[in-house]
Amino acid sequence: MLGALIAASPISLSAMDSPTRKASRSGRLNLRFRPYELKLRHAFNLARNQRTTTPGVQVEIEYDGITGYGEASMPPYLGESVQSVTEFLSKLDLSQFTDPFRIEDIHEYMEKVAPDNRAAKASVDIALHDLTGKIMQQPWYKIWGLNPEKAPNTSYTISYNENANEMRKEIEETAPFRVVKIKMGTGHDKELLETFRKYSDTPICVDANQGWSDREKALEMCHLLAEQNCLFVEQPMDKSAIADTAWLRERSPLPIIADEFLQRLPDVRRAAEAYDGINIKLMKSTGMHEAYQMATLARSLGMKVMLGCMTETSCAVTAAAQLSPLMDWADLDGNLLISNDIFDGIKIVDGKVTIPDRPGIGVIPV
Ligand code: MG
Repeated sequence: MLGALIAASPISLSAMDSPTRKASRSGRLNLRFRPYELKLRHAFNLARNQRTTTPGVQVEIEYDGITGYGEASMPPYLGESVQSVTEFLSKLDLSQFTDPFRIEDIHEYMEKVAPDNRAAKASVDIALHDLTGKIMQQPWYKIWGLNPEKAPNTSYTISYNENANEMRKEIEETAPFRVVKIKMGTGHDKELLETFRKYSDTPICVDANQGWSDREKALEMCHLLAEQNCLFVEQPMDKSAIADTAWLRERSPLPIIADEFLQRLPDVRRAAEAYDGINIKLMKSTGMHEAYQMATLARSLGMKVMLGCMTETSCAVTAAAQLSPLMDWADLDGNLLISNDIFDGIKIVDGKVTIPDRPGIGVIPV
């Protein structure tokens, strides 16, 4: 369909018509990649670990003189690393593909090369979307027919900090946002909630990162949070505690959202059994192609849909933002949490996700 569009619409290509372009209409996809470590502005204190950096890999796919950018981000709990991503990407022979619009074929090929490797696959998927969007000279939200005005507010994430001054400073930094995501499950939840409410009356959402083990206590926290202007609770209990999560969902005054529980499209129906909604992330879904399918399936099942990210540069975060008009909530702050971003892209204006009006995924290297 898209292939037919490009062939039938030479006008949309006029700006890029050149002798080299004509000569390389039968060009091939050229994949490049390099490790790039992301430095966190504040240490992440999650229910199960602490860290100050996130390993990443930057990807470029060149075709016909046009470059598409992509990225893999590998927080340790997802099981991928610089080594596994570069090994996977080294196995790929994209030069066998002469049409960058064959995104589905390329995904099928990547699945045959190796299972899993979701962030690695996402990096290729994002670069292909950037490339094809640039060839069509349109951003992906337009190609999907989405209204950017419907993009939701994004939350900004904070976690417990035992240093009271630093905690206060982190809370003050949330002032421009209309929703704040609070990481809980560290054993300091009530203290953190109390401290936050001392300095801010912004609506919150809570991510327990599987940190609550007792369903009765989890329900008590849900009631407490509901009184404190909380919108939803993400992954309250262990991803394997399906019966307890379903029990909690039946009783909770707040929607219960799956994150660690699910990765890809086949997981969406399973999530419906115990959760009110899902958190879609490109690094879990193998990129934009499957993330779009997950969002539309979840909506058709009457579920809430949330769009998240890892700590990432503006490359992957802006790619995700293209999907944001489909979402009830967004948590697209990954680029704001790092100190060494190398792209310009998504902007948060008055708390709202603002997608750049640029072709592809909408980023330019800085
Ligand atoms: Mg989460």
